[in-house]
Amino acid sequence: MSPNGLDAKTFFECQGGITYNDFILLPGHIDFSLDEIALETNLTRNIKIKRPVVSTPMDTVTESKMAISMAMLGGIGIIHYNNTVEEQVKEVRRVKRFENGFITEPVVLGPNNTIKDVDNLKEMYGFSGIPITEDGTLNTKLVGIVTKRDIDFERDRTKKLKEVMTTQLVTAPARISLAEGNKILKESKKGKLPLIDKNGRLVSLMSRTDLLKNEDFPCASKNKDKQLLVGAALSTREEDKERLAELVKAGVDVIVIDSSQGDSIFQINTIKYIKKKYPHLDVIGGNVVTANQCKSLIDAGVDALRIGMGSGSICITQDTLAVGRSQGSAVYHTAKFSKEYANIPVVADGGISHIGHIVKALSLGASTVMMGGLLAGTSESPGEYFYEGGVRVKKYRGMASHEAMEKGGGKRYLSSEDRIKVAQGVTGTVVDKGSVTHLVQYLMQSLLHSLQELGYRSIQELCNGLYDGTLRFEARSQSAQIEGSVHNLYSFKEPHLGLLRGR
Ligand code: NAD
Ligand code: IMP
Repeated sequence: MSPNGLDAKTFFECQGGITYNDFILLPGHIDFSLDEIALETNLTRNIKIKRPVVSTPMDTVTESKMAISMAMLGGIGIIHYNNTVEEQVKEVRRVKRFENGFITEPVVLGPNNTIKDVDNLKEMYGFSGIPITEDGTLNTKLVGIVTKRDIDFERDRTKKLKEVMTTQLVTAPARISLAEGNKILKESKKGKLPLIDKNGRLVSLMSRTDLLKNEDFPCASKNKDKQLLVGAALSTREEDKERLAELVKAGVDVIVIDSSQGDSIFQINTIKYIKKKYPHLDVIGGNVVTANQCKSLIDAGVDALRIGMGSGSICITQDTLAVGRSQGSAVYHTAKFSKEYANIPVVADGGISHIGHIVKALSLGASTVMMGGLLAGTSESPGEYFYEGGVRVKKYRGMASHEAMEKGGGKRYLSSEDRIKVAQGVTGTVVDKGSVTHLVQYLMQSLLHSLQELGYRSIQELCNGLYDGTLRFEARSQSAQIEGSVHNLYSFKEPHLGLLRGR
């Protein structure tokens, strides 16, 4: 054994079946401070994000609330598809509409609409400041605005908006700059700033809450129109071509083809179809764990790969089907192949059950990590909290659990051979972890410390270290793992609930 550990090639290519817990990273030399470290990375060939974190497309993890928070924090959320096309599209739209420098397609009502219509829009999109135009459409004369304060004490929800709307409006010319608009919003103390053309017609809208969010979340993942980035999952079913068309209309930024075994003719055909029909839409294929699988999907045209088969915290694939791969080996080998073959980034998906696993996944060549269990149980994950044995928990279930398959209406099962449904996942609970905002900020701060200990100023430098041999690895025996965790205490309090030992 070398006094300075082993390079990755020696470590990973001479033994099989390595998981994150089986190795430790040896420290490097520190000659920089934490604030010099950059966490920017590639999600796909064409999409860069400022934080390497992705929330998984599972129905107990990512809907719009989670996706909005993940994008605000510099990562991205992928909306699951265990729902109708309309429901999935609605979730994508909520993210796209959530924050805009300029809201170019604001939701508009007319004077004859009712307060109930505003309630419905609030329910659908989560906001309630609605501009009122002459005939209830964009690009017609602005006549008022209805905000929460105009209607919150009004009992009669059938009342027409013309009776309650505010008509004394602060507006700005349509061609105003973002900075000028923000200044007016600050000075006027209004919640919304309608932008109008010279004939008084509503062209777009600016929002005070967006302004505040811009200041609080400087790393937010956005497109050139300042909309938050969002992804959506898709199956390889023929009928999902229609789903795809609607997702594209809603402005989805990236598609994740969601399958446990990505190297199938169904997925290859789906990738080719998407890349031909929507050449500018990025596609993440998967899941894969071997170089051969990567090659199939790269040849079909993917822009990134999702790595992991059987490593998820709710997963029983390896026990049930005896197929899969230990996640450390899977990430190392697929990332190396994909980089050398076509410079395609990989997403390490599943098995991030411990705070230190994030840097370990990145140290094996992943550009981002996708998480389910770690983000489940936050206030932004779908579902209600309840108590189990006195502990506040939320449900977290595999997408191939019986329960999730039933919720999906059996759409995954096409033939008569599929009548008996073999579950590849379980339903369980995870503890309440509070807000995902604090959680991810905590995770990212610990990632900065990890990179500093290793002596790398960025994820790219870490990756260079992996392939030039300066990043050093050492195996951890069972007793080394025990020694490396809290031991010999009668009791202790975890610094962050459930993160230390991946409860
Ligand atoms: P899937 O939809 O890819 O496959 C289900 C079945 O349908 C497979 O037998 C597949 O071959 C078949 N199929 C798919 N498209 C078809 C087509 N066009 N024509 C005919 N047959 C077709 O879903 P899955 O692999 O069962 O995964 C379900 C969910 O569970 C996903 O969300 C997945 O991410 C998750 N899962 C993940 C893992 C993992 O380790 N990452 C493991 C198991 C399940
Ligand atoms: P976790 O972060 O360890 O909880 O793993 C989440 C990952 O598990 C997801 O991103 C999927 O790849 C995978 N997954 C989701 N549902 C299932 C399932 O039912 N069985 C097996 N794996 C699943």
